[in-house]
Amino acid sequence: MKSRGLVVSACALLVLLALAGCSRPALYTQRLYVFGTLVDITLWGVPEEQARARVEGIAQQFQTMHSAWHAWQPGALSDLNTAIAAGREIEVHGDLEPLLRQATELCRKSDGLFNPAIGKLIGLWGFHKDDPLDGRPPPPKEQVAALVQSAPSMDDLVFDGHRVGSRNRDVQIDLGGFAKGYAVDWAINELRRQGVENAIVNAGGDLRAMGSKGDQPWRIGVRHPQGKGVLAAIEVHGDEAIFTSGNYERYNEYQGIRYPHIIDPRTGQPVQGITSVTVIHANGAEADAAATALVVAGAEDWPRIARRMGIEQVMLVEENGTVHMTPSMAQRVQFEGERPPIKITPLP
Ligand code: AMP
Ligand code: MG
Repeated sequence: MKSRGLVVSACALLVLLALAGCSRPALYTQRLYVFGTLVDITLWGVPEEQARARVEGIAQQFQTMHSAWHAWQPGALSDLNTAIAAGREIEVHGDLEPLLRQATELCRKSDGLFNPAIGKLIGLWGFHKDDPLDGRPPPPKEQVAALVQSAPSMDDLVFDGHRVGSRNRDVQIDLGGFAKGYAVDWAINELRRQGVENAIVNAGGDLRAMGSKGDQPWRIGVRHPQGKGVLAAIEVHGDEAIFTSGNYERYNEYQGIRYPHIIDPRTGQPVQGITSVTVIHANGAEADAAATALVVAGAEDWPRIARRMGIEQVMLVEENGTVHMTPSMAQRVQFEGERPPIKITPLP
């Protein structure tokens, strides 16, 4: 009887241990849909209940940011854009002011190639809707030329405490090239503040990570530009961000010509010839702005802009298949399948 009792207690203990094990899984992942994409938030080594609560907090804040900063739906950003168009200034709240200040700084550093003040041009080309692929013709040349002439820039913004206005009424802020980067930085910093050491916040392939997945690095795939699975794999060491801007992501097509969603502020035209740019950098906001700016810079000028922006690890894929990389990026990238033609270019 006694031994049976012992066996029962031993079994109960094993069950308890197993349950305790269940409540402390190594990996906790939650998927949400926000910023127009699937976002996976993964924590390593945090007890499940705690991980769930932490991720829930991040998810809620992401939804708030998404509505506040939406480029064409009503929210804090559209209030600001309405005020600017009317020549008024307006008080902005929460993260919007630091976000605008950082975007202004990055606009300057990119020589104006990353320029979230060109929202009117982006709207004119039909990108202020969920699916821009509707076969519409390009906008009238005069309208594009007038906006290029007026040259709206982040430098037109005037900050007065928490109040923001603009010297140029043609400024319309569109944070599509930057908000995700700012948001993943916020999320990683918030998780760290809460004591989490190992996490990855992956917004449709654009991500920031910290720590590791136990004794292994985080490993991520860079999507193949022509939609053929994974082009390359990159291991993420410690705290860093990886962002890709792709001209294949959003575009319109008219009479056989593709008009992609990244606009050159100097010409008002969608950028042609560049398939994608991937940037690895210490933080998401700078990586996001740089990836967009380097698409605009193109196959000749990208090293100069990368240098100006303080970005060392860059991969640019031309539409003809040529892959340009900085030496430090080349050391990180493992190509899957057939190796494309590669050109290694050190920064000036
Ligand atoms: P990303 O995928 O980060 O390169 O962001 C692309 C989005 O940024 C576009 O859908 C536009 O909303 C916006 N955008 C387009 N051209 C520019 C530009 N030159 N500078 C800043 N944002 C841009
Ligand atoms: Mg970007």
